[in-house]
Amino acid sequence: MTDITRRKLLVNAAASAAALGVAASAKAFPTFGNPDRPPEGRINAKSPSSLSDPGPQNPAIANQFPSFQDPPATDINGMPLFWASFNNAHKRYQNGGWAREVTQDDFAISEDISGVNMRLAANGIREMHWHQQAEWAIMLNGKCRITILDAQGRPQVADVKTGDLWYFPPGLPHSLQGLGPDGAEFLLAFDNGRSSEFNTLLLTDWIAHTPPDILAANFGVPAEEFKNIPLDNLWIFQGKDPGPLSSAQSAAQSPLGAPEHPFIFSLGDMTPNKQTRGGTVRIADSSNFKVSTTVAAALVTVKPGGMRELHWHPNADEWQYYIAGEARMTVFDTGPKAATADFRAGDIGYVKKSLGHYVQNTGKTDLVFLEIFKSDHYAEVSLSDWLKHTPPQLVQEHLGIDPKVLAGIPEVRADVLPL
Ligand code: MN
Ligand code: MN
Repeated sequence: MTDITRRKLLVNAAASAAALGVAASAKAFPTFGNPDRPPEGRINAKSPSSLSDPGPQNPAIANQFPSFQDPPATDINGMPLFWASFNNAHKRYQNGGWAREVTQDDFAISEDISGVNMRLAANGIREMHWHQQAEWAIMLNGKCRITILDAQGRPQVADVKTGDLWYFPPGLPHSLQGLGPDGAEFLLAFDNGRSSEFNTLLLTDWIAHTPPDILAANFGVPAEEFKNIPLDNLWIFQGKDPGPLSSAQSAAQSPLGAPEHPFIFSLGDMTPNKQTRGGTVRIADSSNFKVSTTVAAALVTVKPGGMRELHWHPNADEWQYYIAGEARMTVFDTGPKAATADFRAGDIGYVKKSLGHYVQNTGKTDLVFLEIFKSDHYAEVSLSDWLKHTPPQLVQEHLGIDPKVLAGIPEVRADVLPL
């Protein structure tokens, strides 16, 4: 194909993309870009049988992944799977709630973060415990009471609601309890891809595996005081109404006072860092959520047809959790490599540090997702910022873009672009 023909394709596709809008442009994109170098994609599969799929199929699953079935012709080569989901994760139920997880054992690329989705019934308790990694969380539904003790012996007891976060530093002991009327559901992110919810240090396990005379000496009471301890751990169990927050706080208080900074943060209630016609971005990292020194997060809403712009993160891998709506993300790597995947509520995405990516809202409702990073701060480089703040002649010499186009790029990145 000659350069002139390719340019014509590019112009035609751009025009139809503009006419149809971003969401409707999927049909235009297969001819966009450079479909002949190399000749990848269905557009280049000329013989009829190279397009058919006569083998075993599961349409219920296949239909969830249009971008795997028919990738944009600009996708090239292959890359490690960056899609996972809680929707096909095994649920561990006990009386009081359930949990399911996606760790690096299931999702090879996710080196920095493992994720847990947990439900606690009203008064359901996640047993008092601790672990070696930090625990970051966002409330998805309902209300939950958290307890934690810091390394100076200062407690915090607090109630959280939908949109609130907590962050428990490595090693600090804590508990969770669903509150009435309908308990709680939340997402946990551990700052280590190998961490497991089913591998934590449990209060009951330690007590059951310590000799009674040692317990007696440690607490200064007769050994028989421990005759009712459970012999098996509780993990999740049904508790009783924990009563008003203020009573629980005063019952737990220490003469040493309260922790210097709260272990909870209201992300859903904060004023967005960015608000455009395309959506919003809310960021929580150690600059506003002081204790969160190893996890930074952005809660992103993209309106129908809108797009999270082309960008990358220079400081950390991005672990995504899709809360609502439908999305399509394309990731770009050296090689070149480019791959596109589809995401729905409960799915997980992952982008290695500094790889280029963008996320489109492909549904008819708001797309809401989380970007989580193992870092004390949120950082992003925008392609649009880069092109805007480089001498225009230099950019034109690379891309052949008309200087008028460069002049029209906003001075400061939008983050979320409208339709
Ligand atoms: Mn925990
Ligand atoms: Mn990103």
